[in-house]
Amino acid sequence: MFSSFNFNNQKALVRVDFNVPLDDQFNITDDTRMMATIPTIKKILADGGSAILMSHLGRPKDGPTDKYSLKHLVKHLHELLNKDFDGSPSGAGGGGDTKVFFADDCIGEQAAMTAQMLRGGEVLLLENLRFYKEEEKGDKAFAEKLSKLGDVYVNDAFGTAHRAHASTAVIAEFFPKDKKMFGLLMEAEVKSAEKVLHQSEKPFCAIIGGAKVSDKILIIENLLERATDIIIGGGMAYTFLKARGGNIGNSLCEDDRMQTALDILEKAKQKGVSIHLPETSIIADKFAADADTKDCPSDQIPAGWMGLDIGGKAIGIFSEIIKKSKTILWNGPMGVFEMEKFQNGTKSIALAVAESTANGAFSLVGGGDSVAAVNKFNLADKVSYVSTGGGALLEYFEGKELPGIAAIKN
Ligand code: AMP
Repeated sequence: MFSSFNFNNQKALVRVDFNVPLDDQFNITDDTRMMATIPTIKKILADGGSAILMSHLGRPKDGPTDKYSLKHLVKHLHELLNKDFDGSPSGAGGGGDTKVFFADDCIGEQAAMTAQMLRGGEVLLLENLRFYKEEEKGDKAFAEKLSKLGDVYVNDAFGTAHRAHASTAVIAEFFPKDKKMFGLLMEAEVKSAEKVLHQSEKPFCAIIGGAKVSDKILIIENLLERATDIIIGGGMAYTFLKARGGNIGNSLCEDDRMQTALDILEKAKQKGVSIHLPETSIIADKFAADADTKDCPSDQIPAGWMGLDIGGKAIGIFSEIIKKSKTILWNGPMGVFEMEKFQNGTKSIALAVAESTANGAFSLVGGGDSVAAVNKFNLADKVSYVSTGGGALLEYFEGKELPGIAAIKN
């Protein structure tokens, strides 16, 4: 719908996710989230429409706070809108300078006046929505005030799609069906997530890693209904290994989740889903970059040692499964990839996913640390899709209906 909509003379009120990290000097240290939504804004401007952008930034507790002001993003937004992605200068509407205005309150007279005066090809960035408690409460009256700023509502903030906030969900009530839609980023995110969860070509392999079992129980349970193989790596694997009677030394373990782990293994057996735990691990005598290390069976880790990465045999087995798969979902690293000594497992799995993708599989990587990992190993463009939505993507794969998606679709 977004691509065929003509925004000429329309004021598009766009919910973006500009929740970017800033350093002490208010420099943006990672602008991925801003970059991701630029094509949506450019399309609106190129049509002859104007864009009114609203976002949250950080977690302000007590109203307006300089540290969380979106004014710190104006300069960079202006730069991004005035250059093509190959770096050559050009206006967002195809030549010329795209003006970016800022309203230091997201509602009220100044915002309304600036929005009203905005001409085709111009952009207005509103101050942090979370300076009002009403935003996170999903307050209707607040959502209605925001809605008055634009003619069309565009949601391009997949990162907050799992929140029923005023600007991400409630606001959609105030627009007719043909005047509310996903932006290009949100469309792509939803399409790739739906493809994996609902139209997966088999074999479908889910790779789940990271630190804690407790964070991933719901996603594993939902995937048991859909995947053919589930690879479990990272710190969470040791709770499963201990529950099966293995010796895991000082490896990460959630003792109170061992029964859950056994239940998951049993359920998988009943459903014919293969769960793969790492047969071997790289173990270390301390959690440190200069630790002594060995490759050893994951269920025979000596006391005082801990598994910090998957071992060579596990890499071989996991890679074979990945290379035979037609659909791949990857969430969470295989080890402590932040330290060079323990990055090999995660890197090898990333390479296997890339190889499988080159051979025609559809691969979706999502969730903070696996995204950081594919970026670290320069493999982001070798997988089918890298999601920008950490928590939102997880909740989607837990089988929950995301309020930001439902508000537009239903
Ligand atoms: P999560 O946020 O749950 O996806 O966990 C990611 C974190 O888990 C990363 O910071 C990894 O360093 C950490 N991690 C992965 N494998 C292990 C392990 N075997 N032991 C301890 N931490 C791990």
